[in-house]
Amino acid sequence: MSESGRSNIEKTNTEESDTEKLGTYRPCREKSCAEKLDTSRPYNIVMIPMGHSNSYLIVSKGQGILVDAGCPGKIKNLEIVLERNNLGFSDIALVVLTHTHYDHVGCLAEIKEKSGAKILAHEKEKEFLEKGMTPFPEGTLWFSKIISRIGNTTMSSKSRYQPVSPDIVVSDGYDLGRYVPHAKIIPTPGHTKGSISLIIENEVAFVGDTLFNAIPGMVFPPFADDVPELLKSWRVLIDSGCRIFYPGHGRPLTFKKLKDSYEKRINI
Ligand SMILES: [Zn+2]
Ligand SMILES: [Zn+2]
Repeated sequence: MSESGRSNIEKTNTEESDTEKLGTYRPCREKSCAEKLDTSRPYNIVMIPMGHSNSYLIVSKGQGILVDAGCPGKIKNLEIVLERNNLGFSDIALVVLTHTHYDHVGCLAEIKEKSGAKILAHEKEKEFLEKGMTPFPEGTLWFSKIISRIGNTTMSSKSRYQPVSPDIVVSDGYDLGRYVPHAKIIPTPGHTKGSISLIIENEVAFVGDTLFNAIPGMVFPPFADDVPELLKSWRVLIDSGCRIFYPGHGRPLTFKKLKDSYEKRINI
């Protein structure tokens, strides 16, 4: 992507250990959300903390794609971001679900009702979404194995949410060019069978829980149903050409951080 085509997110440094620039990240803090979107750019990205998970609003051609729908009870955060950018719920044309764990679909039913947006999910998540219950994934670490076990037994009510019917069900790649130029969905299974990522211009990727950046020094998700599949998806993301990866938890990370983590992981 050319410099002029970059999204308007301010240039900033990432983690101390990372020497690369993130390039286009603007965190959604009070001040930065008050800034106006730059309509001369092909697209803008705003990160929205929605409890302990992130949603992202991508605005292009006067309409928005929302990536993920946050933890339950956090819709106010989205409302604040929309208001500060002179947008309303009706400006959200599409909600892309990277997957359907409760912390990514917590406000989905409300958002759908207020916005009338279409909901896009992978076919392997459809049944969960329509039931309003997605099981906790397997733990990949000792502590997350315990959490997963508790989550699927005594705390199983935690994984429930208001059911929603998806409008667009994808099984493979899917072109989103009518919403954002050069945007597409690619399957990135592993965290769950139906995990997907949204890529724009082979430059930035919204990856849900395929990458995790909330615990210092750790990118590997603490939960994943299929680790070999997850690593294959990491390889796909590495080969995508993207430079910045927006995860479902924590701050964006660079290509270098992903590549280093991948190499460390496959050499275990
Ligand atoms: Zn998840
Ligand atoms: Zn999550």
